Amino acid sequence: MWRQSDEELSRGELGVQEDSRTPPPKTEDGAPSIGVTEMGFRFVVNFLRYDSGMTKAKTRMTRVLDRLEKFYGKPKAPRPVDAYEMVLHRNCGYPQSDALCDKGFAALKKEIGLRPEEILAAPVAKLREVMRVGGIVPGLRAQRLREIAARVETEFGGSLRAVLKRPLAEAKKALRKFPTLGEAGAEKILLFTKTAPVAAVPSNCIHVPLRLGFGRESKNWAASYKSAQEAILAELPEACEAQLRAYLLFKQHGRTLCKSARPKCEECPVTDECGYFAATRGRVRGPA
Ligand code: SF4
Repeated sequence: MWRQSDEELSRGELGVQEDSRTPPPKTEDGAPSIGVTEMGFRFVVNFLRYDSGMTKAKTRMTRVLDRLEKFYGKPKAPRPVDAYEMVLHRNCGYPQSDALCDKGFAALKKEIGLRPEEILAAPVAKLREVMRVGGIVPGLRAQRLREIAARVETEFGGSLRAVLKRPLAEAKKALRKFPTLGEAGAEKILLFTKTAPVAAVPSNCIHVPLRLGFGRESKNWAASYKSAQEAILAELPEACEAQLRAYLLFKQHGRTLCKSARPKCEECPVTDECGYFAATRGRVRGPA
């Protein structure tokens, strides 16, 4: 069973912005090049590949995602998408699920408020009581919310927006200091806030791309995650919209049909792309 606490991989930064004072490089015939930054160049390439549809041949992953989107519909925009609120949200429910976190987060917003000073001013007993709607161990979650609020207030001046402007590796390191946030959680925040086109994979649904042949499963959760991530990076443009769509569709499929235990393959729209299905179809379909 994969566990998020096993997350220990890290990715490098996206690229280095050239110093604007450096003379532009020359082209082969000696003329100065247009002098775009590496990030700018990548943006243009990705825009042409993804947004304007100039790529003739879609990658296999894009075709699979298109079929999932046709089946489930366009993924809804995720909420919340502010980094601080996302950290609060994931700590508002336990066992951690969207439904419980949504309930706990809504109660926190209504009864206490989301601002660090509001959380810190609330009596501990009230915070604990409010957290009951988010599931078990409300006391522990109340304590974590106070810890988050205190750190954001004292270390980051009340907001995590400045953290997101740091170099990618540094931003990720700062985010991982918050309770329950591992590599996958930090990368999810970087992607949802559109800070960077990170190939985040839903931590409890990495079996979805792996079953579909995108990456290799390993006994080690971190190695499986990294492998799925590398496959995504190889198949999709480094663009937030493309990466976010993949994240949301893999998650939807993992929660609806492609559950980690007993997937409902008989209803799945992409069986012909699935290695797991090919290997287990006898068992999945039952005797003829
Ligand atoms: S065929 Fe089954 S295992 Fe494969 S992607 Fe579909 S639901 Fe998942």
